[in-house]
Amino acid sequence: MHFDTKAVHAGVEPDPSTGAIMTPVFQTSTYVQKSPGDHKGFEYARSQNPTRSALQKSIAVLENAKHGLVFGSGVAAIDAVVKLLMPGDEVISGNDLYGGTYRIFTKIFEGFGIKFRFVDMNNAAEIEQYVNDNTKLIWLETPTNPMMSIIDIRAVAAIAKSHKLLLGVDNTFASPVLQSPIDLGADIVMHSVTKYLGGHSDVVMGALALNNDELYERLAFIQNSCGAVPGPQDCFLVLRGIKTLHLRMERHCENGAKVARYLSEHPQIDKVYWPGFESHPNHQIAKEQMKGFGGMISFTFHQDDMQRSFRVLENLRLFALAESLGGVESMANHPASMTHGAIPKEERMKVGLLDSLIRLSVGIENADDLIADLEQAIG
Ligand SMILES: *Cc1c(COP(=O)(O)O)cnc(C)c1O
Repeated sequence: MHFDTKAVHAGVEPDPSTGAIMTPVFQTSTYVQKSPGDHKGFEYARSQNPTRSALQKSIAVLENAKHGLVFGSGVAAIDAVVKLLMPGDEVISGNDLYGGTYRIFTKIFEGFGIKFRFVDMNNAAEIEQYVNDNTKLIWLETPTNPMMSIIDIRAVAAIAKSHKLLLGVDNTFASPVLQSPIDLGADIVMHSVTKYLGGHSDVVMGALALNNDELYERLAFIQNSCGAVPGPQDCFLVLRGIKTLHLRMERHCENGAKVARYLSEHPQIDKVYWPGFESHPNHQIAKEQMKGFGGMISFTFHQDDMQRSFRVLENLRLFALAESLGGVESMANHPASMTHGAIPKEERMKVGLLDSLIRLSVGIENADDLIADLEQAIG
């Protein structure tokens, strides 16, 4: 079945009691049993909820995976993955990643005795030198946030396989429309559903998708035991959002290309980070492993001045100055002070995350209006 058809139908069956075409919001905390243990497969809503089940199935199908699990946020989904590990275990992680992921790794899990090595994954072969007997998990994001590097998932998966390590891929920036990490060898795909999957800036949620049955049982056990589950209303909103995911992504890509081109020709702008440019260092890998280049773009000014970037952000009218991304509305963000504020300046500088860097999440409005807004804001 084609992706577009899956986006509209996956996971959603007409409700058996009424025929309702949309899965209802099962706003309940518990389920009545006939006799102790005699029930319809639903005992308590932390453990099971039909609206959540429909969404989990939908996300699994979109990721070409057997199983899906949703969580109260993207970081709650990451939290569940790291809870597979034990004190003394090591994780090799990309060094250019979402600030909140860096924060939960270093500020929470290092305290529990798990070690994280943050490495440049642009050259996958270099990862091997960090593998030792304690290494259990490789964690990567691609495209990376906010530098838009493209990591070769297939190459990293080969290293993970050869050392029997789990490979987790944060697929938030690409969405399942543009990239299928499971098909490239990842064991676990993670999403901040808050972003493109939800798509309408009205829900915070996370998800995991995977094939391995035993791993799924362990993660489902963590989901239920630790309890970071989303409510049914939020699951319903995401089920609705997913139905137009493919259409939205098409426009995000189209607008992204137009805005990236505009920025690259602007005399005051220095670097534009967008994997669709032939000059992008990993353009070839992006072409091979992605179906489009997306609507996420970062750029810096020749003059690396935070105050100047702040003025541009203040001047924007259509682009909302906000954390988050992936919504239908265009958004602009200042990573150094906002989303990536938790990352020390030396670490930021190493990957080129300068003080003047602005990150755009290009929405699905008219591209000419978006470009006009940037033009008036940059001046
Ligand atoms: C937002 C984001 C997260 C965290 O997700 P939340 O839903 O905010 O908890 C993780 N990874 C990436 C790439 C993100 O953009």
